[in-house]
Amino acid sequence: MSQYDLLINGKLTTADEYDAVINPATGETVGHAARASAAQVDLAVTSAKKAFPDWASDAALRSATLQRAADAVQAQSEELARLITLEQGRPLRDTRGEVAGAIGILRHYANFELPPFVPFKSDDSGLVVVERKPLGVVAAITPWNVPIILLLLKIIPALKAGNTVVAKPSEYTPLSTLLLGRLFAGIFPAGVLNILAGAGQVGSLLAKHSQVNKITFTGSVATGKSIYGQASLDLKRITLELGGNDPAIVLADADVEKIVEPLFWGAFWNTGQICFAIKRVYAHKSIAKRLAEALAKRAAATKVGNGLDEGVELGPLNNQAQLLKIEQLVKNAKIQGATILQGGSRIDGPGYFYPPTIVTDISHSSALVQEEQFGPVLPIVEFEDEAEAIQLANDSQFGLGGSVWSGDYERGLALARQLDVGLAWVNQHGDIHPAAPKGGFKESGLGYEGGAKGFEEFYQLQVINAKK
Ligand code: ADP
Repeated sequence: MSQYDLLINGKLTTADEYDAVINPATGETVGHAARASAAQVDLAVTSAKKAFPDWASDAALRSATLQRAADAVQAQSEELARLITLEQGRPLRDTRGEVAGAIGILRHYANFELPPFVPFKSDDSGLVVVERKPLGVVAAITPWNVPIILLLLKIIPALKAGNTVVAKPSEYTPLSTLLLGRLFAGIFPAGVLNILAGAGQVGSLLAKHSQVNKITFTGSVATGKSIYGQASLDLKRITLELGGNDPAIVLADADVEKIVEPLFWGAFWNTGQICFAIKRVYAHKSIAKRLAEALAKRAAATKVGNGLDEGVELGPLNNQAQLLKIEQLVKNAKIQGATILQGGSRIDGPGYFYPPTIVTDISHSSALVQEEQFGPVLPIVEFEDEAEAIQLANDSQFGLGGSVWSGDYERGLALARQLDVGLAWVNQHGDIHPAAPKGGFKESGLGYEGGAKGFEEFYQLQVINAKK
């Protein structure tokens, strides 16, 4: 079935127009996504508003519904994983992991409760206590790099807290989200979960809608700022997970042989298309050459190809705009005198393939180091002392993640604490503990996702102050 419809008010709903979704590995059409009209955006939001009171008042139904939703995903997990690979590009074994993670999120939140607040006062004279209330209608707007996990990290805690939801995936990867809509259609009560699709304009209509109470968004800094501006008009609540330009600092005492594999994956997983991927390395001058050569060797041995093929480690870039951006950044770095130690030009063929690329003889001020390239290119900049490394790592508008790599654990830990980032790692990069709040410093975001802190963001607080 190549046509994927919307989920509005509990019904799978066709649209007047459909957009072809392209397989980035082949250039072929994977399927057609319904494009929501302005009227359908409005219908989705008003249905969510109508469904809110009943859903908010039935905690047992919410838990049971999330368990049923997990069962439904489990029953179709292979189809869902294949569809993510087809529209997003990542190898099948990765997307199978994404679907397993999605089921984990559903089951986790089905049973998750925050502990109630301890009353400030509860005695013969009355009660003073803080209580949590859901916000109402939550709009979730998501990107194309990890479409299902990033969606569920928003909509499942939102729903569990008692909110109703209207979600809109990226126009590059809408099909897996619309397939979830198909799986969930008979499971969630009408209006509780609505799934739209379309480009930025649909997202914008949703973000502007007067009956949306909160927007939770993952995507680019530019779009995040525009949504923030829009939300300010009626003070919608907002959580923004934006870009990153994560540094990795490699100290002179790091064991190159040991760190090359985790550092490679910290940079290149999902072909570098991860907000918290390592996007620039600062290596001590005594070790930089050896590290660059080891990374180049690992990059040269990497199997790049169609994510459906056995043994493929890295898939294509997701879209042509991304490929052109990477090509331009590398070309400019070359003109400025950088050395391309490995990779450096697109792979011929119909897909958007670009090999893992290692760049040396490059300065901190180069655009390839300064910008969030979001692709499989890793510049390695040399430093002389640790204070300089921290200063360069922190010299960024971004502050999502960062790591320090050292043979001396305590030294690594002390330096990691000096990074201006929300996620600081030592001798690894990218591991997210399920209970941890994930959020960025500076322009990398606003608010948190995950853990108890992320869950709190789907509530507002009410103080009860009662006298007998
Ligand atoms: P990316 O570069 O990751 O595609 P975007 O910020 O452009 O980042 O896209 C992330 C999500 O935001 C997508 O679902 C996209 O359709 C949506 N989007 C793009 N522009 C807007 C906008 N002006 N308002 C709301 N959503 C938007």
